[in-house]
Amino acid sequence: MSIDTEPFEVFLSEARDIVLIGHFNPDGDAVGSVTAAWHYLRSRGKHPHILLPSPYPESMSFLEPNEQKILICEQNLAEARRLVARADLLICLDLNRLARTEYLERDILETPARKVLIDHHIAAELDRFDLAFSTIDVSSTCELLYQILLAMPDIDGDPARIPLPCAESLYVGMMTDTNNFSNSVFPGTFDMAARLIARGVDKDDLQEKVLSCYSVARTRLMGHMVKDKMVILPRHKAAYMLLSNKEKEQYQFVPGDSEGFVNLPLAIADVEISALFTENAAGEYVRVSLRSKSRINVNRLAVRFFNGGGHRNASGGRLYLPLEEVPAYFEKALDAYPDEEKFS
Ligand code: 5GP
Ligand code: MN
Repeated sequence: MSIDTEPFEVFLSEARDIVLIGHFNPDGDAVGSVTAAWHYLRSRGKHPHILLPSPYPESMSFLEPNEQKILICEQNLAEARRLVARADLLICLDLNRLARTEYLERDILETPARKVLIDHHIAAELDRFDLAFSTIDVSSTCELLYQILLAMPDIDGDPARIPLPCAESLYVGMMTDTNNFSNSVFPGTFDMAARLIARGVDKDDLQEKVLSCYSVARTRLMGHMVKDKMVILPRHKAAYMLLSNKEKEQYQFVPGDSEGFVNLPLAIADVEISALFTENAAGEYVRVSLRSKSRINVNRLAVRFFNGGGHRNASGGRLYLPLEEVPAYFEKALDAYPDEEKFS
């Protein structure tokens, strides 16, 4: 991949006050990419701030730089807005639309600061940025950021020059977005993994910290979902599960606990689409997670029926309906989903 980093280099060298921003409901790629960018910029003598719209899984707290705590916007929105307003460079990572910052779309649009996007989703809002690194031909934003860093003059193609904590964050984002190398893997993804391990990244340690970190209650909740909640729709080769606030309470749910649940039904031979519908804590909406086997496109399904988007085989969105009305809506959406989009 050949990347022109010259304009980015100019932006970075001229910036005095940098803010790194990830998406709402941050996953491993969002946390990994903002913290990787932080460690790289710190190695260049910068002191960026990190903003995440909502809390991220506890299992990734080891990626948070000691020197710079991550500001969770919904816990201190006034401070987040102040940081955005006074910055001269904003770098948005792992989000294709400013609305994915949940609270900061207007603030980002209104500031005269330079804006850079680094993202791997479909249909990014390129015109809202002064500079955009956007491609869907990578596993993750962390893989794209890795490629960008290699092309920067100070790294000059040598992974050994990537600071170790930066390399670890990059690895975590790639590992989580590929489900530990099971989907969205490109030849460059394995290349990146190999080079980061050679750089000194401890793959097993990161895997244990991030993927084998759950409580007993979470594992029991997973069993409950599969045994008692999974509904199969044979006509659509689809499966879905509903996760209510009552169940979350019953199983002492913490952010990140439902990671991976939506993939489980795809292990069934005749299931090609899987959906997880999760009641939001405040009961304001239902969070939608969609996954598909390789020949089915769920991104169009998310855009058309679920107020969302994402990737071809992994998308998400929201439904403003009571949880009990979701199954009928889902079946109707599947009925109405045009074949030319489903198989696109
Ligand atoms: P997840 O199901 O893991 O929450 O999300 C899967 C993918 O869909 C991620 O790449 C995520 O960025 C995207 N996604 C999740 N929720 C939304 C949403 O509300 N809007 C959009 N545009 N994308 C989403
Ligand atoms: Mn991602």
